[in-house]
Parts: sequence; C-alpha cells; structure tokens
Amino acid sequence: MKKGKLLYEGKAKRVYETDNKDLLIQQFKDDATAFDATKRGTIVNKGVINNEISRILFELLESKGIETHFVKQLDDRNMLMKRVEIIPLEVTIRNVVAGGMAKLLALEEGIVLDEPVLEYHYKKDELHDPLINDYHAKAMKLATDEELDFIKQRSFEINNILKSFFDHKGLDLVDFKLEFGRHKGKILLADEISPDTCRFWDKKTKKKLDKDRFRRDLGNVEDAYQEVLKRIIAE
Ligand code: 5GP
Repeated sequence: MKKGKLLYEGKAKRVYETDNKDLLIQQFKDDATAFDATKRGTIVNKGVINNEISRILFELLESKGIETHFVKQLDDRNMLMKRVEIIPLEVTIRNVVAGGMAKLLALEEGIVLDEPVLEYHYKKDELHDPLINDYHAKAMKLATDEELDFIKQRSFEINNILKSFFDHKGLDLVDFKLEFGRHKGKILLADEISPDTCRFWDKKTKKKLDKDRFRRDLGNVEDAYQEVLKRIIAE
C-alpha cells in the first residue's frame, strides 16, 4: 500500500491518503509537544515505539471484540487504518487521580478511585480542549445520544481490558485518552494508544513511564517508552 497525499499533520502523527478511498496510512513521528504545543521536543524513536505499542494494543482489543480503525502495520513507523470521521471528543478514563483531575479538584496525585471516572473534552486546540459533559456534546451536535451511550460503554470495556493487561505487566494504568470515529455506520476506536496518550506507573515503585517525563522534565523519557514496550512484549 503506497502513501498518497498528506491529508493531515498533527503534533505526533501524519495521515496520508492511499489508492483506496476507505484506507489511510498513519505515520508516527518522534515530535513531542505539551501544554498546547508551547513545549516542544523530540523523543528519539518515539514514533517507532508508539507504532508498535498501538499495534499490539489494537490487536488485543480487536481480539476481545472491540472494533478499531487498525488494519495492519506496514513498517516500523506506519500503520494502515480505516478512514474514519473523527468525533471531536477526547474521552478520558481515570483509574487513579493525576494530571488534569488533580489540578481541577485540588486533589493529591495517586488517589485510587473506587470507580473509573469518564470525562469528555471537546477536541479544540484554540479552546484548550475544555472539559464538557454529555449535554454540551449534544448541544454542540458532536454526537447523538446513542453514539454517546455507545462511546461511554466502549470506553469502560476498553478500560477493563487494558487495566487487566497492564496489571499483568507490572504497570498501573492511571488514565488514558481515547478518540472514536465513524466508519460505514459504525463507531470505531481510532487514533493511538501509547505512552503519549496514557499514564503508566510502575506498580511497585510508582515511577512514571509515560509522557509526563517529557511534560515535567523528569528525564530518561526514551528509556521510559522503551520500558513500556519491553513490559508489553514480555510474557
Ligand atoms: P489530563 O487531562 O490529566 O491532562 O490527561 C489525562 C490522560 O489523557 C493522560 O493520560 C494524557 O496523556 C491523555 N491526554 C489528554 N489530553 C491529551 C492530548 O491532547 N494529547 C495526548 N497525547 N494525550 C492526552
């Protein structure tokens, strides 16, 4: 499958058309940004690692009946995916208080939540991805009631699968962000699942093994991404 026109360039990925109108190629870059791209940098080999981690996690989810946009891995930085119309909602699931929730509610990072918390953020850089609820999403016509119900249910299912998978790898899945898209009447999980979009803490030491190392200048960013991949691959 050959790359056609560049359709979209985001902060961490490029999306290309292919000769099949239903299929796109997603290329993972090493560029890293944070805080609305006011902080920029490069994480060596991030694109290769995130492509591989996303492949493994999309395949895991597909094997459990979760439909995703993933078709196949093409090479170390590129994956083939179904063309979706992205729903401009970032769905965040939190198992442990960190980041945005700690700040919003002045809570200590690390509090384990009795039940996962689901948040919607409107995907709009200019507005800094504001926190919204179902009513805002409907008022803005971002998704219908039925779609929101489906997305909510899917997101909790995905959390159960990923949380248990990472638990076996010695990692706490603290929180993560999902994006969904419409494809031929269905809603598919889209985007990526990687240390760019999830928080992973070592179960024992609580060491951060994700993009927070870049955001907070904690050092050893590449090693942390490599470590997550190593744990995922380990039997
Ligand atoms: P928070 O709202 O605490 O900043 O983020 C919650 C989780 O969602 C974190 O795992 C974070 O990495 C992910 N997340 C939220 N918004 C974004 C975003 O715009 N880009 C990326 N890559 N991840 C995000």
